[in-house]
Amino acid sequence: MIKMVLSIFCLLTSTGLGMASDMAAGQLMFTIGVHVEPLGETAQGYRGGRGDYRDPALFQRHVQYLYALAGVVERHGGALVVQVQSPFTQVAADTGSLVLADLEARGHEIGLHFHEGAHLGPDPERLPPEEWCRVMREEIELIHAAGAEGPIRYWSGGNLYPGILEAARCAGLDIYGDWKDPRVQATAAETIGVVPWRPAGGPDPADMSHFAAHDPGGAVIYLPDGMIDPASFQEKRRIVREGGPGAWFSVLADYLGRSLAAALPDRVNIFHFTVHPGEFPLELIDSFLAEHVDPLVARGAVRWATFSQMADAFSAWEADHPGVEPRSGAPRAMGQGECRGYITFAVNVHDFVNVDESADTVLRLVDLFARYGVRGDFHLTGPQV
Ligand SMILES: [Zn+2]
Repeated sequence: MIKMVLSIFCLLTSTGLGMASDMAAGQLMFTIGVHVEPLGETAQGYRGGRGDYRDPALFQRHVQYLYALAGVVERHGGALVVQVQSPFTQVAADTGSLVLADLEARGHEIGLHFHEGAHLGPDPERLPPEEWCRVMREEIELIHAAGAEGPIRYWSGGNLYPGILEAARCAGLDIYGDWKDPRVQATAAETIGVVPWRPAGGPDPADMSHFAAHDPGGAVIYLPDGMIDPASFQEKRRIVREGGPGAWFSVLADYLGRSLAAALPDRVNIFHFTVHPGEFPLELIDSFLAEHVDPLVARGAVRWATFSQMADAFSAWEADHPGVEPRSGAPRAMGQGECRGYITFAVNVHDFVNVDESADTVLRLVDLFARYGVRGDFHLTGPQV
């Protein structure tokens, strides 16, 4: 009788799973993004999601959540990136709400969350970049009308539009993130990683290779999600449904650990996740930060940073490393960078009766291994030898 045992070994490399000293590993810049959805009729007359920010109770509830979330994050030394759009911005401006001005004054960044269908109507991809630019500008003006004073640099949305980089640049935006295919709620494997880059072309869900390629002259910096599961956005719903919101934060803790393990010492490395107003209990976010983020911040492995700070750190890195491909050698998939896999075949020959047949089998295995350049372990009995 011949038994073949397949053994797989995982040897930790120097940056593996947080076991290495932080001196050898890269530091991870971290923030929490907030997406404010287009609830109600937008400035352009289309409707976004369910609910309506013109309902004062809903608007106030989400404003209070933003203040409270900001308070939680501030107690942990951090800052949010709050991404807004109309009609939230219109209601804030019309009612004199100070929420965006207050958040900005407290060190949080304000960005644009752009649900293209809610601002450009059905099939927005048929429209030229100039039209996207005009409407994105309109939305940015509304953010300023609602009280934000600083430049709006970051946007999320427009993920199916190949001309989005051109449109955004025209609108004065230079930092992009949170790419996913909204039709399947999944991101592309090519966008996974912790190191930012400048996309060489617009996104195309059928072929993300241009988007994933770095163009040193590109006008837009893309901030990836970190080492996440590409299907995590669709998984999130199932995980929360089955395990409650705490189960999702266990997943986020895992992504944080994987992202930290993938961080390279000579690069700008980033990780963030996104929440929506009212989506998760604040105590849960508070305890996630206390348990998983604060200890890493204390030992210098993680540093809070807004998206603009991440992008500026990346620009500074580029200036210091001319000609270096930012993502070269950087892990780009779940599991990469955590360990190097080794595999071996152990062949155990227990035979002392049908020794000739077993000998033939061993010889066939030797041929097979030789053909594929594989080396196995052979363990033989006395009669077999
Ligand atoms: Zn959204």
